[in-house]
Amino acid sequence: MTIAPTRARARRLSACKPTGRLQLGNLFGMILPLVAGQDDSETVTMLADLHSLTVEHDPAAVRGRTLEQAAVLLAAGVDPQRCTLYVQSHLPEHTQLHYLLECATGYGEAQRMVAFKEKAGRGEQVRLSLLTYPVLMAADILLHDTEQVPVGDDQLQHVELARTVANRFNGRYGPVFTVPAAVPAPVAARVMDLADPTAKMGKTNVVSAGVIGILDEPDVVRRKVMRAVTDGGSTVRHDRERQPGVTNLLEIYQACTGSTGHFSSYGQLKRETAEAVVAVLTPIQERYEALRRRPETVEAALAEGARRARPRAAATLRRAGEAIGLVSF
Ligand code: AMP
Repeated sequence: MTIAPTRARARRLSACKPTGRLQLGNLFGMILPLVAGQDDSETVTMLADLHSLTVEHDPAAVRGRTLEQAAVLLAAGVDPQRCTLYVQSHLPEHTQLHYLLECATGYGEAQRMVAFKEKAGRGEQVRLSLLTYPVLMAADILLHDTEQVPVGDDQLQHVELARTVANRFNGRYGPVFTVPAAVPAPVAARVMDLADPTAKMGKTNVVSAGVIGILDEPDVVRRKVMRAVTDGGSTVRHDRERQPGVTNLLEIYQACTGSTGHFSSYGQLKRETAEAVVAVLTPIQERYEALRRRPETVEAALAEGARRARPRAAATLRRAGEAIGLVSF
């Protein structure tokens, strides 16, 4: 039995869940850091379609969003030559390793996950997969001998579970898995909802005044930014506690332009922020439109990504299976 050799460049795993339209927070919090890291890390990026089935979903929407998100990632600069980009369900090894890891995870451990407790605690009907998805996430990570997982605060607990399960499995059955580390996302990359700047901007399937979609047309972007909730007073100041609306716009401006800017009024801040966002989104949207006219290009990139990822996934699964007691020939 062998474990993965140490590489010069760390392997990183990122994932996008096709549950809604990608928004500005996804761009600054995930996609652009991913694009920037393509040279100094070995990047694997997965469209996590299986994870989008853990809550009530529309099958056609999941299919559509999966391809849309893949095209947005490519349009935003993900390079399929340098980044292994594929659809999670195209590698059955994810669900196979999921099962083996379930056999090394306690029921109580899964129940303690905050994301599960929050949703289940609302008294709604929950799917069994909502309880077990952190174990699937552990499988996603461990399948690739991933060293680094860039995540926001909300996912730290799940990476910790992946570490716990990997260590337990290695200790009990032999050195099979690389133990991953969470890489915290930069705090400044937290984009807040324009209509409620105390809440994080999040993916949605419906039109929302507070959420800027990466594919929103320029006039829609302008309208949303001009209507953003600001604060009482008129001083443009960076103060997340007392002026969350203004602070959010300042941070969006800075994320778009790389400069802090200088604004004498809320009106000027909004106008310049709107134009800065439009300037970032326009080239991405142009490349997206070109890809939409050539869907075979997106499909070919995803097929190539799955082809490249498969041998490593199969090798990890085989190592894990043999270690835990399965017969292989
Ligand atoms: P999600 O859309 O919640 O599945 O998140 C996918 C990725 O985008 C994760 O890496 C998040 O940290 C990042 N992300 C999502 N929303 C935001 C936001 N409002 N600000 C910064 N990063 C975000």
